[in-house]
Amino acid sequence: MRVAVLSDIHSNLVALDAVLASLGTVDAVWHLGDVVGYGPEPDGVVDRLTEIGAVGVRGNHDAAAAGGDEIDWFNPDARAAMEWTRAAIADRTRDWLTALPERHSERDFSLVHGSLREPLWEYIVSVPIARANLAVLTTPIGLYGHTHLPMVFAERDGAVEQVEPGDGSRFGFAGRRALVNPGSVGQPRDGIVTASYLVMDLDDQSCTWRRVSYDVGSTQAAMRDAGLPPRLIERLSYGL
Ligand code: ZN
Repeated sequence: MRVAVLSDIHSNLVALDAVLASLGTVDAVWHLGDVVGYGPEPDGVVDRLTEIGAVGVRGNHDAAAAGGDEIDWFNPDARAAMEWTRAAIADRTRDWLTALPERHSERDFSLVHGSLREPLWEYIVSVPIARANLAVLTTPIGLYGHTHLPMVFAERDGAVEQVEPGDGSRFGFAGRRALVNPGSVGQPRDGIVTASYLVMDLDDQSCTWRRVSYDVGSTQAAMRDAGLPPRLIERLSYGL
């Protein structure tokens, strides 16, 4: 069984479609939240995920778009984009976002947006934070997003090792306990412009990170048409 894991799509339909076109055959698509926010096509992204039967969890941007007070914690650009998102989305999109759970598990995998401890908000960016979350992980593997950085924190002989995977990097998870981040589809922040995602082979018990180019200019043009903040438009050119 092959599963694609996508996170932080952020209303970037052009990037999502490039990812889906590059996948090959998969048996399931799981997402780790922040489906909307920042980008120009929230309805289009939710419609696409509905079409392909993706299952997943709620991110802080999804909660805010559904009407939550998470918006009060956003920086000015994120807040402006969220106010636009709230006004732009169709009722069916709001309902879909509202129905997303904060946590979900599939087989040996726990899915969250931020962390196991704080599914909406905590950023797993260091070994101490990863260790605290591995301590409360109830399945062998935790899948998380939120940082927009492809990453693995894996237990080995009582220690936690941190790995920053690149395009084509593979991680074998047989017998391991680890936290795994696919990176961001719609707004990468590791200095690489291309969309990042993960493909897992559950028979082989391994996962592989992939990067795929998309038409950044097309997303940026749609953002300009929507009147979204210039800094959010520009950052897509740098992957930051
Ligand atoms: Zn995000």
